[in-house]
Amino acid sequence: MNCFKGVCAAGILIFSQPIEALAQEQPTPEMQKAIEFFSQAGNPEGRWIEGETMVPHVESASHFNAAMLYYPGTEELQDNEIRVSFMGSTYYPSQDQSGMSIYVELGNGDRFVFDMGIGSLRNYNSFSVPFNTINHVFISHLHMDHVSDLPYFTMFRPIQGGYTPLNIYGPSGSEPQYGTQHFVDSMMAMTAWHQDSFNAWPVGEGYNPNVVEFDYMDEGGTVYEANGVKITHWPTSHTKDGATSYRLDWNGKSLCYTGDNRPNSLTIKYCEGVDMLISEVQTATVSVTSRALGMPAAMAAYTIDTSHTPAYGLGYICEQTKPKVCVASHYSYDDVFNNETVAEVRYHYKGAFAFGAPDLVVFNLHGDGKVWWREGVTGESNQVPRPVYTDDEITFPAPKHQVYDVINEIIEANEIDPELWYPPEKRPELVREWPLTEDITIPNPFAN
Ligand SMILES: [Zn+2]
Ligand SMILES: [Zn+2]
Repeated sequence: MNCFKGVCAAGILIFSQPIEALAQEQPTPEMQKAIEFFSQAGNPEGRWIEGETMVPHVESASHFNAAMLYYPGTEELQDNEIRVSFMGSTYYPSQDQSGMSIYVELGNGDRFVFDMGIGSLRNYNSFSVPFNTINHVFISHLHMDHVSDLPYFTMFRPIQGGYTPLNIYGPSGSEPQYGTQHFVDSMMAMTAWHQDSFNAWPVGEGYNPNVVEFDYMDEGGTVYEANGVKITHWPTSHTKDGATSYRLDWNGKSLCYTGDNRPNSLTIKYCEGVDMLISEVQTATVSVTSRALGMPAAMAAYTIDTSHTPAYGLGYICEQTKPKVCVASHYSYDDVFNNETVAEVRYHYKGAFAFGAPDLVVFNLHGDGKVWWREGVTGESNQVPRPVYTDDEITFPAPKHQVYDVINEIIEANEIDPELWYPPEKRPELVREWPLTEDITIPNPFAN
């Protein structure tokens, strides 16, 4: 029985397995007819189309442990499957929404992150995603709701075993100081104190990020191609030159993440027929939302009308591109506005639609062109995920210096003698110096 924590795919399994067996034993025409009616409720496939939007692409799968919930770490991706988890879904963080971040896992083991906005890292930890498994981060643009967790991630990734350079992809700007390279250079300069303090631990090349900055004007260029995965980009209009949209292709499956922008003809050009189109969205109710936000209506209108995608615009784009599912994110997920937003999208678009919000909504692109989405389940408190070490041996790089090399001896002398506060029978042998000066390779004690 395919159950997890009491949630079972009962509707599928109870009907299908016993009925097939029964049909083989008692294949009388009358019984067969009764069985078909029982399992199909008089609605055989092809007789009519149910609902308004969900057929034919929206479908669960038998390999999901739960039909409506996703329990991280409990499901192996199929060889041809993509899982997309919204680790951040908005611009103003709230209790259940972080700044934009989309985590894409492929059935071949590759993982990609698109944007890393404020607060999103707690969701990676909640989903037990070790930092050393994230090696490729793609930046749509340099607003802080999209990149402000990147400094923390870069600094703590080596502590979770990320000893190789982090690859950061993003656009150039109209001048060098507006480009991704400058942002990362400045981030590394800003974190000098942090780096030198952590240089007393193994960090390897973790503090030498590799920046792949592409021409922000380049249209349709390839920014990443390896292992059957291709990621392309095109420029988009959002507050200032240097914003970009992305498309990922792998194994016949595809998704677009357009970042923040005004409705854009290039999105229609490059996202036609994708499995999943992820866009920002704004409810086109400026007078109402401006009062809710405490913002003058003209300021709210100016912001939306120059820089963002009203829901009518998203509906137009999705009607033009016809993705298997149209996903709206970068959205303050509020009951007051959700129905209105859907209604505006529906003005043009009649296909499958979902919110990529609040945080931890999970989409599976699976099987032969099917899509399904669920709510991710996490505990309220979480251990830091264990790094993933896949090789037979682990090499721990030598620290660049000892802790007390960078602490003044006068300040060190103010430390209270541990003998005064450890119980006598509990006094450990203190490790006050890293015991090695060279890299050390040990058999992997964590291998499965
Ligand atoms: Zn934004
Ligand atoms: Zn923005």
